[in-house]
Amino acid sequence: MDTSTVICPGSFDPVTLGHIDIIKRASKMFDKVIVAVLVNMSKTPSFTTQERIAFLETTLADIPNVEIVGFSGLLADYAKERGAKAVVKGLRAMSDFEYEFQMALTNKKLNPELDTVFLTSDSQYMYLSSSMVKQIASLGGDISFFVPASIHAQVCERLKNNRN
Ligand code: ADP
Repeated sequence: MDTSTVICPGSFDPVTLGHIDIIKRASKMFDKVIVAVLVNMSKTPSFTTQERIAFLETTLADIPNVEIVGFSGLLADYAKERGAKAVVKGLRAMSDFEYEFQMALTNKKLNPELDTVFLTSDSQYMYLSSSMVKQIASLGGDISFFVPASIHAQVCERLKNNRN
């Protein structure tokens, strides 16, 4: 048996249509996609781990080969534990490149079997980030172009409280 399992790691704080675009593309290319939600982030997230996971579950419910998990520790070790052969990451503008290149090489050093595959999302999501979504929502702007419709109301409701 040689099934191809890959991991899509991220903070997903909250998940955006850019993330979903990348995860869906990966689910068509590989047998199984593990979406690993970072539990221990350097920056305190706006949404709890449970909320971030629940948003992904709601949005990706119709894709059978996607599994969503909370994750802490070293990605290189977790990939080995789960038998994943690659990490899949989305690359936006050039600004992502330096950091992602460093992460990819570090992960390969820690786990020489682990490759990183970079995908590009649809161009309409090229400049979309979770922090931009939060900023727009906190200023009362419309985020319906940026987050999945199925979680839009919940995300707005939570972010409304961040307005002052
Ligand atoms: P963010 O930078 O939005 O907070 P995450 O840390 O959750 O995102 O990112 C997880 C992965 O998803 C990263 O590889 C990131 O480059 C990718 N990603 C995030 N938004 C997009 C997008 N709009 N298009 C392509 N890839 C994206």
